[in-house]
Amino acid sequence: MRDQLLKLEETSRLLEPSVHDRENVRAAVVDYAEKFLNQIDYARAFNVSEDKGSHLLDSPISEDGISIDEALALVKENVDTPGLNPASGGHLAYIPGGGIYYSALGDYLADVFNRYSGIFYASPGAVRMENMLIRWMCDVVGYPAGASGNLTTSGSLANLIAIVTARDAKAIKSAEVARSVIYLSKQAHHSVDKGIRVAGLGECVIRYAPVDDRFKMVPSELSRLIEDDKAEGLKPFLVVASAGTTDVGAIDPLPEIGSIAKEHGLWYHIDAAYGGFFILTEEGKQKLRGLRLADSIVIDPHKGLFLPYGLGVVLVKSVDDLKRSYAFEASYMQDAFAGINELSPAELSPELTKHFRGMRLWLPLKLHGVAPFRACLEEKLLLAKYFHAEVQKIGFESKVDPELSVVTYRYVPASGDANEFNKRLLNEVVADGRIFISSTMLNGEYTLRFACLAFRTHLKQVDTLLSVLNENVKLLMEN
Ligand SMILES: *Cc1c(COP(=O)(O)O)cnc(C)c1O
Repeated sequence: MRDQLLKLEETSRLLEPSVHDRENVRAAVVDYAEKFLNQIDYARAFNVSEDKGSHLLDSPISEDGISIDEALALVKENVDTPGLNPASGGHLAYIPGGGIYYSALGDYLADVFNRYSGIFYASPGAVRMENMLIRWMCDVVGYPAGASGNLTTSGSLANLIAIVTARDAKAIKSAEVARSVIYLSKQAHHSVDKGIRVAGLGECVIRYAPVDDRFKMVPSELSRLIEDDKAEGLKPFLVVASAGTTDVGAIDPLPEIGSIAKEHGLWYHIDAAYGGFFILTEEGKQKLRGLRLADSIVIDPHKGLFLPYGLGVVLVKSVDDLKRSYAFEASYMQDAFAGINELSPAELSPELTKHFRGMRLWLPLKLHGVAPFRACLEEKLLLAKYFHAEVQKIGFESKVDPELSVVTYRYVPASGDANEFNKRLLNEVVADGRIFISSTMLNGEYTLRFACLAFRTHLKQVDTLLSVLNENVKLLMEN
């Protein structure tokens, strides 16, 4: 048996590269990353590709490894080229963010030392770091002591965690799901609908409160719906507002919805995945002043703090509500919670073992300080105003003033189908590749979206978009 063990050890030790091998592989990876970053200002924001990375499949997973150079060549051709380049400042579609570098280094460290951040007992420092970050975000949104939350992977998961918390706080038992009512607007992000389904609330009555001409929920209509439902003997229990809709960046009237929720005893959830961090700016502070009224809030650092994908946050005003839904007992964990006052992520979320996500947020916040984040968000708000003004000068229609950093606009040609025209225009802009934009349907109109949140988007990219739009309108008009 000893011989056999030593033989297995020989091969299993390959999982621990030597100093020399570490150095070689690391140098190749760093070199690749440096080349990527050094050309990012000139890189295309979108690459239309025929094979869409399919050559990756030519190199199947096999018993023997390949070299780092071969691996990086596969990544470059198949992963890092086709489709959207979210790191580009030319990414002005959906909701961008970018992916700041020190966050990548935070992930690198977190993965090398692999601390167990689910439970305080195992890694008190890691859990303290995550709790400290959550406390910082609670302060940012104006939450009291006694609030807490969870660092999760995304806004979608954060919304799900909040919806489950609301369900349990309002004691919605399965027998009464069908007469329980949830209120949102059609502009709510689809992850809210998904979260409702996953939380076992798909059979609730879902009421879509009407929106005004700026796509904001109308509070008086919400009140009316709730009163009607109560009169019918239904059980209203949850209202979801958006603080920055994905589509147009509209902020629902947060203070008014807050008083309605309070009056009727509803759980008040605000989905601020996109817009929440604008509260770091003066303008955002005014516009988001109702945020603190919510029982739960979702904010996405991989949007508003420009982190690489993989960090969404749920904040809950009273930690007891989170505990009600997520605390657990297990005999094999009996030593882990004895005599410990600090909260652990495992008690406050569906996860146990988890990525030590705190590092990817803590390191950039500590190295940069908050000031550059604040400035970058303020820059984005101003770029949206600039674009809104300039795009109209080149003949586009942009009816609604931007509330945050999303601008909706379209070109209305003198003759012909405007929807068709804008669709063709979008295809031309995407094919050009320097700037990537997306579209939406607003009241039946095909509308282009300018969504400015990538940290690498500055005046230059916005001017490029304006000239690409201008050139292509002219070309399309000639044909
Ligand atoms: C992006 C977004 C989400 C979903 O967040 P993910 O991190 O993409 O899962 C939810 N709500 C709003 C308003 C968003 O903009």
